[in-house]
This record gives sequence, C-alpha cells and structure tokens, in this order.
Amino acid sequence: MTRTARAAVYDAPNTPFVIRDLPMRDVHDDEVLVRVTMSTICRSDIHSYHGLRPNPCPGILGHEIIGIIEQLGKNIVRDMRGEALKVGSRITWTEYFHHGESYYRDVHDMPQKSDGIRKYGHDLVETDPHLLGGFAEYCYVVPGTGILILPDELSDEEAAPLNCGVATMISVTQAAQIEMGDVVVVQGLGLLGLYGCAMAKARGARRVIGLDTVSDRLKAAKKFGADETIDISSHSDDELVDAVRALSPPDGADVVIEVCGVPEVIPAGLQMLRVGGRYVLGGIVTPNADVTFDANILVKKWISLRGIHNYHPRNLIQALDFVMANRDRFPFKDIVDSKFSLDELGEAFERASDRTVLRAAIVP
Ligand SMILES: [Zn+2]
Repeated sequence: MTRTARAAVYDAPNTPFVIRDLPMRDVHDDEVLVRVTMSTICRSDIHSYHGLRPNPCPGILGHEIIGIIEQLGKNIVRDMRGEALKVGSRITWTEYFHHGESYYRDVHDMPQKSDGIRKYGHDLVETDPHLLGGFAEYCYVVPGTGILILPDELSDEEAAPLNCGVATMISVTQAAQIEMGDVVVVQGLGLLGLYGCAMAKARGARRVIGLDTVSDRLKAAKKFGADETIDISSHSDDELVDAVRALSPPDGADVVIEVCGVPEVIPAGLQMLRVGGRYVLGGIVTPNADVTFDANILVKKWISLRGIHNYHPRNLIQALDFVMANRDRFPFKDIVDSKFSLDELGEAFERASDRTVLRAAIVP
C-alpha cells in the first residue's frame, strides 16, 4: 500500500494543528485499519492541548473514535461479543490497548491499569503505524484492543463518545453502587455528568441532583434524568450543601459523583452525604489537584471515597447496551451538538474549550 492519510497533527501545546499526510501500510495479522467516520473531542484532549497533562508531540489527539473497517488482519476474527468482524463493519474500540503480562489484569481484574498500557491519541506520528489517534482520516486498531461492532440504528453522534465518556461513567456509577431509591448528586454536567444523571435514573435513583455553572448544561440535565439542578455559581458552599441536603431527607445524599474536574468541590461534596454515603471521583484527571478537607468526616460519617480512572473492557459493552436500551428515553444524540472538518480542528478545540459546545465532533 502506498497511500497516505490526512491527519491534524498536534505539534506542541497551544500551537495550531498542522494538517499532514502520513504514510499508510497494509495491516499486520493482528491489526485492523479503520476509516474514521467520527471522533469527538474529550475534555482530556483539551487538557493535553493546553499542556496540562503530558502527551507526546508531534502526535494525533483524539480517542473517542468510531469508523468502518477497511482492512482486517487475518488473526482478528470476532469482536468482544463474539460477532464476526468483516471489512465494512462499523466499530468502536477500547480507548486503550495492552498485551503481554499484566499483574493488574491477571491478579486484580483491572486490565485498564496494566503497567505499560497505551492509549489511542497518545502516540508519536513519527513511529509506525503513525495513525493511532482520532483526528485523522484513518486509524490503526492494534493488538490488545477490545473491539465492538456498532448496531446500524445507532447514529455516529450516539456512538462516538461510547469508548471514553460513556464507558467511564458505567465504571463510575458501578463504583458508586447506586441502588433503587438513592439520592444521587452529580457535580459537573458535561458529557460525563449528563450520562451520569441518566445512568443514576436508569439504576433506580429516587432523586438525581445536577450541579454546574453553565445554564445550558443545567437545562440539558433535566432531559437526562436530573430531577433538580442547582447553579453553583450563585451559591456559597454552605448554601449549596444546605440546598442539596434539603432535597435529600432525612440526612443527605446517598451518593455524590464528581465529574467536573475541580478539586475544590470535594469538601462541599463530602458535606452533602448521609452517614454511610459513597463519593466517587471521576473527573480529576490532571496532577497536582491539591485540596484540603476535614478527614474526620470520612471516619465519623462512614464515608466511602473512591477514584475511578479508565474502565474495564466489559464497561464498553455495557455502555453500548445502556445507550441502546435508553436512547428513546434520553436524547443522547443531542450531546454531540456540533460538527467540524479536520481542517477546522483548531476552531473545534476553541469552542469545546470555552464550553460553547457540549461535545464537538470531527468528521474527517
Ligand atoms: Zn476521553
């Protein structure tokens, strides 16, 4: 094969993307070549672009990717559910890959924390196979990736965020052990938070309370299962805690989920919980997120505090099943609310970064 593929290359933080033609080659036996049909911009792509987290340069960002199989290595036969893969199958895949020995995978059932794990959208364009990110015409899917066929009826807009945002929220809501009748507070109503509201409701939450500062997001949350929303910018922390506790009698919320990425919300979040409450952090993905809180609350109130990072491959299957089962109830397709070409990637990042769009999609 002597073709090239166009890619929007991330040369350095805070500099314009550069469109480059990168070499393509035939797949190895255990690889898949995918023609990218849509990639969405995740908050972590924006953190990388702004230099807030290390990411190799020059590289191709983007890990929420879907596409059509163009070439299939002969060892890749079935998806994670056992369905036969073919040239032309429309697929999503785990945002990370890992093969070889793994203490965390084999001993602790945490493949997502395997030592040496690599993620799509985190590799140098100079090294083979060059195309391992979403903001390009093609992407190679390499060994150690979990592949999943997408049902035809699912739109690209519903499918693209499955392999990061939605699967992560499956992991977060499972860790929160949301039970029938729980009151669930969601701090941050971006894509993760909206899916969090919907999943909490689908798991039987009695009341879901969404917190954010952006009025469009507060409005959107009502369509995704939030019974109450509070604009946190118009309240002090004490007022906010009082307001949430008033909505969760007799003694506060059962679960608080943090998906806003702001460590300063943690002390108030702890105060919102009842005795025995669960607090799950999923949004604080950049280092040095120092915060001070009274740890005595954890002891006195029997609070469980957990962090979640990445997800198990089965969570991607569950993410797809959740969206398929609830797409008539919640307007998931509206979350991806803007589309850009590869050449417009810089503008898309600006819009996503200043939160004037909810989830920006690139259609190469
Ligand atoms: Zn992501």
